[in-house]
Amino acid sequence: MAAIELKHVFKKYDDKVTAVNDFNLTIEDKEFVVFVGPSGCGKSTTLRMIAGLEEISSGELWMDGQIMNQVKPNKRNVAMVFQNYALYPHMTVFENIAYSMKLKHITKKEMQKKVSEVAKILDIETILDRKPKELSGGQKQRVAIGRAMVRNPRVFLMDEPLSNLDAKLRNKMRAEIHHLYQMLKTTFIYVTHDQTEAMTLGTKIVVMKDGIVQQVASAKELYRNP
Ligand code: ADP
Ligand code: ADP
Repeated sequence: MAAIELKHVFKKYDDKVTAVNDFNLTIEDKEFVVFVGPSGCGKSTTLRMIAGLEEISSGELWMDGQIMNQVKPNKRNVAMVFQNYALYPHMTVFENIAYSMKLKHITKKEMQKKVSEVAKILDIETILDRKPKELSGGQKQRVAIGRAMVRNPRVFLMDEPLSNLDAKLRNKMRAEIHHLYQMLKTTFIYVTHDQTEAMTLGTKIVVMKDGIVQQVASAKELYRNP
């Protein structure tokens, strides 16, 4: 069964802008799918519809054989990482990462165990007491990824997670996300306008333009027929 299916999905903002125009895609379990294309082509909107942060105007979204159109974001088995990190500014790194577990009334001991586990993987063990404003961009993005990881989501949704980092750090974090994917063996959907990120991370690349899917291919196929 497909992890995610989008069937004839449209998104119109204010009944005017057609941001997404008849989007059809099947995403299998454990694929790393990259949405690539110029700014404004509908990548982010599509991702936000999968997350449930944006309503679908028409068409169907399926996850694991269930129709999700009306399902609230917190009832979807997904976790999202945003370009601007979206950390809670008044909370420490530990509290930011643990927040979703706190809402689920998971014991303190369990929470500490899980946070140290992901902190170790992401190399942020020494900054757990800090507030977001005391962190570098790379550290903030690691915290945001950690916050998504503790939810053990079926699908990771990442919206230009590296765009606010400088080139050197971007390369490093790109390799780390690749490593994370190999380690977690789960499904990723990743939005970028960066060709290198698409080529190196994606097992399947979805090229979008003006709200339309232009091409779906593997990195190899795209590289041969650009
Ligand atoms: P991308 O992620 O590829 O840059 P978006 O999905 O953000 O593209 O945007 C697709 C189109 O929808 C653009 O024309 C954008 O201006 C428009 N759009 C995005 N969000 C909104 C919104 N909240 N209200 C109105 N128009 C929007
Ligand atoms: P991105 O291209 O990375 O999605 P944007 O700067 O286009 O980032 O959009 C940032 C936020 O503004 C998003 O939440 C998007 O939905 C919203 N947005 C984008 N375009 C418009 C628009 N034309 N009108 C209203 N909101 C918009």
